[in-house]
Amino acid sequence: MIIPILDLKSQYSKIKEEIDSAIMEVVHEACFINGKQVGLFEKGLAALTGSANVIACANGTDALQIAMMALGLAPGDEVIVPSFTYAATAEVVGLLGLTPVLVDIDPLTFNIRAEDIAKSVTERTKAVVPVHLFGQVCDMENVEKAAARFSLHIIEDNAQAIGAYYICSDGVRKASGTMGTIGCTSFFPTKNLGCYGDGGAIFTQSDSLAARIRMITDHGQKVKYLHDIIGVNSRLDTIQAAVLNVKLKHLQEYSSSRYAFAQRYKELLSGMDEITLPFESPSSTHVYHQFTIRAKRRDELKEYLASKGIASMIYYPLPMHRQNAFIPISKIRVSLQESEKAAAEVLSLPMHTELNDKIQQQVCNAIKDFFSKK
Ligand SMILES: *Cc1c(COP(=O)(O)O)cnc(C)c1O
Repeated sequence: MIIPILDLKSQYSKIKEEIDSAIMEVVHEACFINGKQVGLFEKGLAALTGSANVIACANGTDALQIAMMALGLAPGDEVIVPSFTYAATAEVVGLLGLTPVLVDIDPLTFNIRAEDIAKSVTERTKAVVPVHLFGQVCDMENVEKAAARFSLHIIEDNAQAIGAYYICSDGVRKASGTMGTIGCTSFFPTKNLGCYGDGGAIFTQSDSLAARIRMITDHGQKVKYLHDIIGVNSRLDTIQAAVLNVKLKHLQEYSSSRYAFAQRYKELLSGMDEITLPFESPSSTHVYHQFTIRAKRRDELKEYLASKGIASMIYYPLPMHRQNAFIPISKIRVSLQESEKAAAEVLSLPMHTELNDKIQQQVCNAIKDFFSKK
């Protein structure tokens, strides 16, 4: 592809010296596990988001699993998750022997709807996982109301919206990931705050939950070789923390450049009836993890772009209720038609911090060419 979906090499080249010396410092110190950079990163991320506690872990999927373990969810318990998401959200529910209850999305934001939560609750329901898809925060005030009404824990899947803010009806801004009982994020290289391998983190405002989460990430021990609960081995490598300490300083600038590139795409693609542009919710800032358009002739458009050397991606082609892994274990109590429609229509265009006007014009001209040819 002449125009890739993402450009991590160019981003690295701009911060190369800082990154290289941060990595080499870890190598020289040979403190590969639980080095001081890990604690520094946890503190830095806590300060940036205003979270009382941040616990680093090995990846975003582990973060979700550890969150559910820390809340003491047990087989038979139901957890409400959107059907239109990355599989990891529902996967950990199944892995722990819990029952995923799949709900639909709002067609404008691609995020969970509070009314679907209310319709899907039974006495077995213990938690809901709002996924802040594509970089925009869910309708948290209504999610919180529904959760409070039915005494559900909220586990935010914030893998795609780190750096975004929910805008409360009184105007107060709250960082994504810090509103739920527990928040989870991922530092997979392609995420908005990506490291150079796998990484993840868990947020909570409760000190007692934080202590429990920390134990679970470390084999259930607080004191070495004294295992009080069953845990896992899930650590953020020191080298990854060192990379993240450098990149954390750039997160706000990365979010703003993604936002600016999204506005430029919107300008260049405005007035086209054949596509639907991303919607920006008044109750959230948008950090554009993806710039996702909708088109009825999506598959043909994707092929045409590929023929012009332009990469695009379908996130996600098959909702969880159509996946073999989830059909036998999940429950469905609401219509999932918006998830089906989204899966058939979405197309994510190249979106990253190193876009420029020339690239964006090429992408948009190709889209216009496709529809003018019919
Ligand atoms: C990336 C992602 C995850 C999983 O993160 P990993 O670090 O890859 O395990 C979970 N949920 C969503 C919505 C994601 O996009």
